[in-house]
Amino acid sequence: MTAGAFVTRFAPSPTGPLHLGHAYSAILAHDMARAAGGQFLLRMEDTDLERCKPVYEAAIADDLAWLGLAWDGPIHHQSSKIPHYNQRLEALSTKGLLYPCSCTRTDIRAALAAPQEGVAHAVYPGTCRGRAMASRLPGDALRLDLAAALGDLAPMGLQFAETGPAHAGTHVVDPDVARRLIGDVVLSRKGEDIVAYFLASAFDDADQGITHVVRGDDLFDFTPIQVILQRLFGLPTPIYHHHPLIRDDQGKRLAKRDDARALSKYRAEGASPADIRRMVGL
Ligand code: GLU
Repeated sequence: MTAGAFVTRFAPSPTGPLHLGHAYSAILAHDMARAAGGQFLLRMEDTDLERCKPVYEAAIADDLAWLGLAWDGPIHHQSSKIPHYNQRLEALSTKGLLYPCSCTRTDIRAALAAPQEGVAHAVYPGTCRGRAMASRLPGDALRLDLAAALGDLAPMGLQFAETGPAHAGTHVVDPDVARRLIGDVVLSRKGEDIVAYFLASAFDDADQGITHVVRGDDLFDFTPIQVILQRLFGLPTPIYHHHPLIRDDQGKRLAKRDDARALSKYRAEGASPADIRRMVGL
């Protein structure tokens, strides 16, 4: 990376129309790139082949163009890189850091006798840990053996810089905290050979030369696992900027299916791109 380079991206999943929250994210990333004389790339995170639709992708591109956000280069599609992601995953398998897992959500809940304290989602209890890759059945997911992976990494390198308002500073990923809060995450989904979002995204950030990741605060908690994966694959760690989420009048986060706030609706009602910027506080 050249000193002072700034390459960022907007990475929507084309599973629905863009809402004000996406508009905020895209405008912010675009404006930061342009202010730094850098690049603003567009990436479709479309590995979920059932939920992602070309019609949503076309609508996203149209909304961005209407907002005046021109992206540099062609649109990058994760769906075209699935064999490439799986090939890279092989390296972890060779190192003995992956294992097949046949547990269902119900199995996992049952194995976790008591709710885990301070943990937002169920951390996998490790039922299938130790299974050989050769025992993988067609319906099995692949999990990362996190303790083994952390053992392979020098803890010194597990850190990232954050410039977003809520968490600005340097964050060190503590291996004990990672084991307790992250655990053995699924890297490849059940039987589909599609790598998890946060892995595909880490590969693409490196492949696209992303120096700055600008995205919503809801993804801040994914960053430590992405940093661990970056170290495991020898990838660079970009600078992160997690921005506040746009909420509705009731303080509820805008979800993609919240059509009432779809950008297209404001457009149809005659709002201008400047109105949208005002509405999201830019
Ligand atoms: N595809 C993710 C989303 O739409 C964004 C991922 C990212 O920016 O890292 O929420």
